Amino acid sequence: MDLLVVDRVVKNFGGLRVLNQTSLTVKKGTVTALVGPNGSGKSTLFNVIYGLAPADEGEVYFQGKKITRYPPYRIYREGLALAFQLPRLFDQLPILDNLLLAAPVNSGENPIRALFTRPRWQEEERALARQAYEVLELLELTPLALRPTGQLSGGQRKLVEIGRVLMAKPEMILVDEPAAGINPVLARKIYATLKKLQQEKGLTLFIIEHRLEVLFDFADYVYLMDAGRVVLEGTPEEVLAHPDFYTIYAGE
Ligand code: ADP
Ligand code: MG
Repeated sequence: MDLLVVDRVVKNFGGLRVLNQTSLTVKKGTVTALVGPNGSGKSTLFNVIYGLAPADEGEVYFQGKKITRYPPYRIYREGLALAFQLPRLFDQLPILDNLLLAAPVNSGENPIRALFTRPRWQEEERALARQAYEVLELLELTPLALRPTGQLSGGQRKLVEIGRVLMAKPEMILVDEPAAGINPVLARKIYATLKKLQQEKGLTLFIIEHRLEVLFDFADYVYLMDAGRVVLEGTPEEVLAHPDFYTIYAGE
């Protein structure tokens, strides 16, 4: 089943056409990777999908529903979340609080406000705390739960950012270069965690990543973008075996 469908999306910045009839689909339950030279439009495509940059033409569908002109919070509520490339966290607050603040309470209400306005607040608070601890366990961050987020390494912050989006119990996550600038050991851990989310939680992941060894080990399907278009697609083996792959990938 196609969970996400991008249909001939066009995005211009001034006179620059950054997405030029981009089309692709992401199947439910897969780890799908998006690669391409710098400036080929990968991050812009994520911004369009997530409603941060409106498409000039074309449509985006999630679970069969047209979400093209939805604002990000509505897309988030539909079950599609974006992990920011530069984590957006409250540095003064512990990891646990960052997770609690990210959780939408049923109605999408702020959980802190809900504590004061809802009669069942204790019950909800407990459920949220349980969920946050489950996420911490999954990311192996439990021992750091009360540590101010500002004290974490870059890689640990990425994990917390992934944890933040997991609090919404999403169906699918977009992750832009999850391991960029992270030491290789932690980078593998981040990928192992993403793979675990796929395998144990049935999560669908759409990931921008340019390191080929990572694709081989973790991706089920790969799209290669060049100048705002998808130019190659297939399993990692198929795409990497294509005679044009390296020329395009290197931006030559
Ligand atoms: P990638 O993620 O593949 O490296 P991007 O999507 O970030 O590429 O950028 C594609 C092109 O769009 C680049 O030429 C970039 O300079 C341009 N671009 C991206 N965002 C903006 C913006 N907000 N305003 C103007 N140009 C932009
Ligand atoms: Mg980018």
